[in-house]
Amino acid sequence: MERLPVAGPWITEKEIQYVTDAVTNAWYGNANMYHERFEKAFAEYLGVKYAMALPTCTSAIHLSLLALGVAQGDEVIVPDITWIASSAPISYVGATPVFADVDPQTWCLSAQSFEACITPRTKAVIPVDLYGGMPDMDAIRAVAKKHNIAIIEDAAEALGAEYKGSKAGSLGDTGVFSFHGSKTVTTGEGGMLVTDHQDLFKRIQVLRDHGRQPGDRMFFNTEVAYKYKMSSMQAALGLAQLERIDELMERKRQQFQWYKEGLADVAGITLNAEPQGTRNAFWMVTVVLDPKLGLNKTQLMELLNQQGMDSRPFFHPLSSIPAYEDSEQAHLARQRNQVAYSISPYAINLPSALSLEKSQIEAACGALKRALAI
Ligand SMILES: *Cc1c(COP(=O)(O)O)cnc(C)c1O
Repeated sequence: MERLPVAGPWITEKEIQYVTDAVTNAWYGNANMYHERFEKAFAEYLGVKYAMALPTCTSAIHLSLLALGVAQGDEVIVPDITWIASSAPISYVGATPVFADVDPQTWCLSAQSFEACITPRTKAVIPVDLYGGMPDMDAIRAVAKKHNIAIIEDAAEALGAEYKGSKAGSLGDTGVFSFHGSKTVTTGEGGMLVTDHQDLFKRIQVLRDHGRQPGDRMFFNTEVAYKYKMSSMQAALGLAQLERIDELMERKRQQFQWYKEGLADVAGITLNAEPQGTRNAFWMVTVVLDPKLGLNKTQLMELLNQQGMDSRPFFHPLSSIPAYEDSEQAHLARQRNQVAYSISPYAINLPSALSLEKSQIEAACGALKRALAI
């Protein structure tokens, strides 16, 4: 079987033209023209006031925490199931990550577990729109509001998803995105931070530019800060991709539909959820096995690999990986997070690159069925 990529972008002549124009013309007085266009188009698409292009999503989370004043001694709640980029910046600012359980249907942060994890030290929460699906943001926002906790919405995997008419990433105090090469909209490496709060945005402008006030021409730094900027070539690529967002989203949804049809007669598996009122961006088509099938994710990945098919493990609970396993919070999380620990061992991501055609997805469905011996 042909090796099907788990993730990968869709690049057209438009992207090549924009990047070529940037490398040719975005210098001197035009050095920022693609940043400005990309940020403006992004803010308009999201329906938010401010957007800032950054080198990564990780830096967007770091800046959000800094601007919110999260520091040593504070706690920040993250879902136990996510990529480590959601939680690593909590340590950068000297705060402590607290790993909450996830919801069995959406696999995203459980509002109930979030509330149970709150202490007087909790400053912020980072709900994650996992694999392009949306958490119950109304419930999460209600808990956050009641306890005066700031929300950083990690929409790295969910550009194009929607929740009750709002775009993913527009539902927190800040929203953060990734344009890593594996994400649906890519700039190779890159990120975006969005917010409606002018005070946060102004603070982030200073923090991301070595402590320079916006418009500073005297190179007169007012504090020691960070340098988090995207290049104009990346911004041009991002703009071209964003102008094609409907087409990219259509493609992701079509691919999910092919999987859904191809696996319709397979018992004991669950695919990504799309609760009423939400639109899933289906970054990665994901399958969760009923434990009764008698296979865990490692065994399933090996059976697929034997047929020449690549896949990815569902995120391991953060509280189970070496980076965190010895921490006190990881110990507490392992006792508390029954849903995370009941799903993660039995789930994988299927080939979901934008390049995949119907026949290739049918082949992937065939391989999965043979692995499950159906
Ligand atoms: C990809 C990803 C990130 C990190 O993005 P970078 O641009 O690589 O920093 C953060 N959170 C989640 C949920 C991701 O999937």
